[in-house]
This record gives sequence, structure tokens and C-alpha cells, in this order.
Amino acid sequence: MPSDLIGARPVHPGARLVVLGKQGAGKGTQAVRLSRHYVVPHVATGDTFRAAIRSGSEFGVIAKRYLDAGDLVPDEVVIGVVKERLTHPDASHRGFVLDGFPRTVGQAEALEKILAPFSLDVVLNLDVPTEAVLTRLASRRVCSSCGANYSVPDKLPKVPRICDVCGGDVVQRDDDTEAAIERRLELYERETAPLVSWYAQRKLLATVNGTGELDDVTDRIVDEIDRRKREAV
Ligand code: ADP
Ligand code: ZN
Repeated sequence: MPSDLIGARPVHPGARLVVLGKQGAGKGTQAVRLSRHYVVPHVATGDTFRAAIRSGSEFGVIAKRYLDAGDLVPDEVVIGVVKERLTHPDASHRGFVLDGFPRTVGQAEALEKILAPFSLDVVLNLDVPTEAVLTRLASRRVCSSCGANYSVPDKLPKVPRICDVCGGDVVQRDDDTEAAIERRLELYERETAPLVSWYAQRKLLATVNGTGELDDVTDRIVDEIDRRKREAV
């Protein structure tokens, strides 16, 4: 038996998961928790792009243009990044939590091909009303080094603007401006919301209420995943 515990929950290695949800729905936070719980890598395309931007690579310079505008990075670029990551042994053997991918039906189709002959276990749709995500996004602050999340005024770092986890700078994301948020939510409705019915048709979708305490949301998600994993065996 694995001895590691997340809160009161024993870990259950192995799962192939996708977390969907609009910007600010808490995807990132829940995805990190799920990756610890199932002992699988957290694959977050947004984090990958932000790391590339910080590194100042040629790829980062290209990515920055899309991210700052709140636009989607072209499918072929994102698909290449994800495909590369999912072929590493940790992901190909034990699974993964995908966060921020797929975001278009084209990306979902590509993912199906990348995973074949395997399939996803569950696609979680973290459901939060738009009014609630707008408030969350406006108050969101992130560590520019490790990506840890903070929010004003209730969850600030202990030392102002310094990350509790790594000592990095805590800032407002460049794409958490009102204009970019509006653009990202509009793209979500147009490009990503159709994935909800796409996955429902494939019987992979589980919609979970994403409002309330973080631990309660995690409990709801884990219960749902475990129920589906039990039914699948
Ligand atoms: P959010 O969900 O709050 O927009 P993310 O960190 O998931 O934050 O993504 C930040 C940005 O990275 C997106 O606005 C987009 O420019 C780019 N990006 C991330 N994932 C994808 C993807 N799957 N397809 C296209 N662009 C992506
Ligand atoms: Zn940090």
C-alpha cells in the first residue's frame, strides 16, 4: 500500500485525466492536487508556455505574443508540445492530469490519436458561474517563478509580493487584464465549451460543481473519478 496521504485520502496511482473549465474555474489548483493523489505528472500547457517565455527562448518569444493577447497558441504548436510530454515514461506508464489541453476539438482529436490504443479515464468539467470566475481572475496573483497561486485580499503571500513556496516574485499575470480576460472567456465559449458535449458523447465527461471550499471540490472530483474507475473494471 502506498503510505503517502493527501489530507485523509490514500493515494491511488495511475489515471489519465483531463480537467476542463473556464479561466478561473480552479483547474490549475485542482489539477495539482489530482496529480499528487494519483501520482501522475501535471501537464499544464499554460505553465509550459509561461516557462518558455521566462527562459527567453525563441519559442518563448513566439508564445508571448499569443498569451499577452489572450489568444490561443496554434493547434499544431500545442499538439507538438503535449505529444512530446506524454511520450515520457512517467506519463505513458502511469498517466497524467492534463490542464489547459485540449482546448479545441482539433486538439481533442489529436489527443485521441496520441493515446491510442489507450483512452482517457475521465474528463472533468469543473463548473463555476461566469460571475464567480470574473471575481477570481481579477483578484488572482501568481508566482512568476513556480506558478503558485495567490489572491487579494484573502490569500496573499506572508511577505508582500514574495512567494511562500520559492521566494519568487508574486505578480498579476499579463493576461489577467480586463481586455485579455474578456478575450479568453469569449474563446472559451467558442472553442472549448464544444468539447463538453464532444466528451459527453464519448461517455467520458463528468461535470463537477467547482464552487465552495477547495477541499470539498477535490473530494467531489476524486469521488467521481474513483466511481468511474471502479465501473470501468
Ligand atoms: P487560462 O486557462 O487562465 O487562460 P492557461 O495557463 O491554461 O490559463 O493558459 C494561458 C494561455 O496559454 C492561453 O490564454 C493560451 O494563450 C495559451 N494556451 C494554453 N493552453 C493552450 C492550448 N491547449 N491551446 C492553445 N493555447 C493554449
Ligand atoms: Zn514561487
